[in-house]
Amino acid sequence: MNISNTFTASLPKDKTKENYTRQVHNACYSFVLPTPAPNPKLIHINKKLQEQLGLENLAEKEITEFLSGNTILNDSNPFAMCYGGHQFGHWAGQLGDGRAINIAEINHNKLKTAIQLKGSGPTPYSRGADGYAVLRSSIREYLCSEAMYHLGIPTTRALSLSLSGKPIVRDVLYNGNPAEEPGAIVARTAESFVRFGSFELLAARQDKETLKKLVDFTIKEHYSELGEPSKETYIAFFQSVVSKTKIMIIHWQRVGFVHGVMNTDNMSILGLTIDYGPYGWLEEFNPSWTPNTTDSQHKRYRFGNQYPIALWNLTQLANALYPLIEEVDILKDILRGFKSNFNRDYIVMMLQKVGISVPQNEDGRLIEKLQQLLEKSQVDMTLFFRNLNLFETENIEKHIKKIKDDSYLDPKDFEANKLEWEAWLKEYAIRIESIENEKRIELINNTNPKYVLRNYMAQLAIKAAEKEDYSVLNELFEILKKPYDEQPEHGKWFAKRPKWADDKVGCSMLSCSS
Ligand code: AMP
Ligand code: MG
Repeated sequence: MNISNTFTASLPKDKTKENYTRQVHNACYSFVLPTPAPNPKLIHINKKLQEQLGLENLAEKEITEFLSGNTILNDSNPFAMCYGGHQFGHWAGQLGDGRAINIAEINHNKLKTAIQLKGSGPTPYSRGADGYAVLRSSIREYLCSEAMYHLGIPTTRALSLSLSGKPIVRDVLYNGNPAEEPGAIVARTAESFVRFGSFELLAARQDKETLKKLVDFTIKEHYSELGEPSKETYIAFFQSVVSKTKIMIIHWQRVGFVHGVMNTDNMSILGLTIDYGPYGWLEEFNPSWTPNTTDSQHKRYRFGNQYPIALWNLTQLANALYPLIEEVDILKDILRGFKSNFNRDYIVMMLQKVGISVPQNEDGRLIEKLQQLLEKSQVDMTLFFRNLNLFETENIEKHIKKIKDDSYLDPKDFEANKLEWEAWLKEYAIRIESIENEKRIELINNTNPKYVLRNYMAQLAIKAAEKEDYSVLNELFEILKKPYDEQPEHGKWFAKRPKWADDKVGCSMLSCSS
């Protein structure tokens, strides 16, 4: 195994070695060891990723001990990163890896990959919390990061899921009902786990020297195509982060993913989806929906607000990079560009969802109207877009029936929207007249997944796993590897949310408790 330690070898370290909660200045990380798991049990391993990392030859026992933090590879020096962040719009100061520990940086096939354990005990950044994670939130991160990867969305990845053997106490709804839950550890991987907040904290502390070191390091390791550090390179770096972030958010809107906690400490500098907490998948098309009960009052991180929030977060990153750039107008121009590019690319993406590859003038209105109708008639987003592959221009009535079936409205109430659907489908039929039907269907099937990790699906996997039955987890893991394939044998998951899940904790309501 080829281990490198690029991050720790290149950047300033916290001089204190003891593991206690503290403020860490003039440093990017602290060395810290995982707390050994009393009785580790590997529940799932991502075989493909294991091979990609060159770890396939480790025996089951070795890999279990390694990915639960019980053995440390000879050449690696585990550490926790120091970062800050804006949480729900407010500067929160130092946060850091409170329960994530980087256990190794693997060099394989010319790729450097960092492996982090999430939930393997306290670090100097744990603040008042315990450093652990429960099975429920670990299953959610494990399944969702791989689902996103296979949907073609930039994301951190999940390598393994283990039980630690240590019970953890959590108050799921923060309502005074603490209970023990199984402790778990996810091993996750990424090219880098650096966040917007990593830069923000250094800027907030006016530590320009360390800020420059971190920016130069990030460019050299992850944006090397931009060239040697200089003011121009820093500007190009910001421009690239803006562009990657835009691409990520467009993907989220495409598949109906709501992150739920888009704080700047949860924004990856590589534009990866990171830190899967109280995320959710849109079922009825409702731009105001957020799965995060902690955010239920202001709904800051609702589905329809993810793009303005990304812009807000990028503005915080611009502020953090300012000391190295000192050109307000250029930074403002780039942020303005994000807005116009986003709007343009969003329409292109939405048109692809309805099978149109070449935009025309009136298309923006067609999409606008569709979104209004989907919202008003509470249609399931995944079912609606995928089922457009069944649309026949000469049989509009039949398709309206389909939409009615895919709506969460009472069938009687749906009737009030029928005429508008008819008008929209007629307009759509005219718009696609010149498009070859096979091409249209192909684009629809490649843009709109048939299988996504609906909130209740994750919950079923959790409920079974809490009884040591991992069959649902295994099944979902396999289905979500091919989200665009028909997989008729798994058709039961291509359906509306069942009634029992309507208001269930874990299905439509999630807190940050994890
Ligand atoms: P999140 O919003 O879940 O990404 O977490 C925000 C901050 O809280 C990060 O600094 C986390 O490391 C920290 N944190 C969350 N849960 C825990 C925990 N159980 N123990 C220690 N730190 C935690
Ligand atoms: Mg986080």
